[in-house]
Amino acid sequence: MSHFTIRCKECGAELKEVYCAFCEHCRNALLSTEYRDPGFKENPGSGIWRFNWLPVHTPRFAQAGPVVYKSQGLSGYLGLENLYIAFNGYWPERGAQLQTCTFKEFEAAVVLQNAMENGISGLTVASAGNTARAFSHLSSLSGYPVIIVVPGMCLTEMWYLESSPKMPTLAIGDGDYSDSIDVARKIASLMNMPFEGGVKNIAKRDGLGVVLLEAVATIGKLPDHYVQAVGSGAGAIGIGEMSERFIRDGRFGSRLPKLHLAQNLPFAPMTKAWQKGSRELFTEDLDPALIAEITTRVLSTRYPAYSIKGGVYDALKAAGGNMYGVNNDEVYAATDLFERTESIDIVPAAGVAVAALANAIARNGIGKADTVLLNITGGGEQRLRKDREVHRVAPLVVSKDIPDSEIEELLRC
Ligand SMILES: [Zn+2]
Repeated sequence: MSHFTIRCKECGAELKEVYCAFCEHCRNALLSTEYRDPGFKENPGSGIWRFNWLPVHTPRFAQAGPVVYKSQGLSGYLGLENLYIAFNGYWPERGAQLQTCTFKEFEAAVVLQNAMENGISGLTVASAGNTARAFSHLSSLSGYPVIIVVPGMCLTEMWYLESSPKMPTLAIGDGDYSDSIDVARKIASLMNMPFEGGVKNIAKRDGLGVVLLEAVATIGKLPDHYVQAVGSGAGAIGIGEMSERFIRDGRFGSRLPKLHLAQNLPFAPMTKAWQKGSRELFTEDLDPALIAEITTRVLSTRYPAYSIKGGVYDALKAAGGNMYGVNNDEVYAATDLFERTESIDIVPAAGVAVAALANAIARNGIGKADTVLLNITGGGEQRLRKDREVHRVAPLVVSKDIPDSEIEELLRC
């Protein structure tokens, strides 16, 4: 018997035989994983597969986890007594071994393993950068086919660990992240390789929730506050869902960690909606011209999981907290501050979170003695380059209006 079931967050129906789907009655609600064991368990071993709350049975490859440690440097600067950092990246001196340098590697690992166990023959993934690298790496490592679609505008910032990955990457020469999603959906149906599904894939959210599993295993309780930069919102939703499981367990606290979620101004559709108290996003905040002005393209999705039942809006309502807008100058200052105080480089998106944390303290949302978990979603890219070579992405460049026949021809060989 499987150790989990899948339930609709709106009507509570238990669903069988679903993969990346919605409840047939509730098209605008997320499904979530319900683990039969209400108690959090860590099995012997290392890496993420030692946790019992993941929707997989017999993992076929090893997967390193985050490193969670109590900060001395940044915490001193900010005047916090209990700041814990979840470092997701490459920093061997601290034991951090994610060579893709991003927490998206947990998503990719859990999604691939879950898809294999569901008898899915391959996946299609759309990404603005980090997710592409994580999936390409794990596809090459595990031999599982994944077709990746990225916006051409992100190519200059992208890199892969492998010089010749197992599967091709397609770049949309004339489109953004949202166009990549549209083309990926088309490929998925033509090639019979399901679209990874974004936020509606329970394996993705539970995989991103690994950060909280590792944090509670290290700290021994739920943090009072959780701080992260958000693009699609899937990571924050995953953390919110894991928090609820810990509350049900009962041994790790009785209050959901407050969520402090941040976006890079001026493209900050969720922040702007939340600050106006709105469950719906505003069209003017989704203008693609705003994306060109931000330094963190990985946070640039125009289809975030904000309004949907069980999405970011509901997670914030349930847990309390706030959303923050961080401008480019604050991002640069925050990445510098982190490197100076913690002695490791971080990606700009993680700088967005660091800047939001400073804001949350300044506005008194976070108290000096509170336990705070800061999710450094990516880091150590410069550190990695001291140890190994990385590669530019060599994609097949296509148009967002690529005809079906051309897709089939490109991907058949
Ligand atoms: Zn339902």
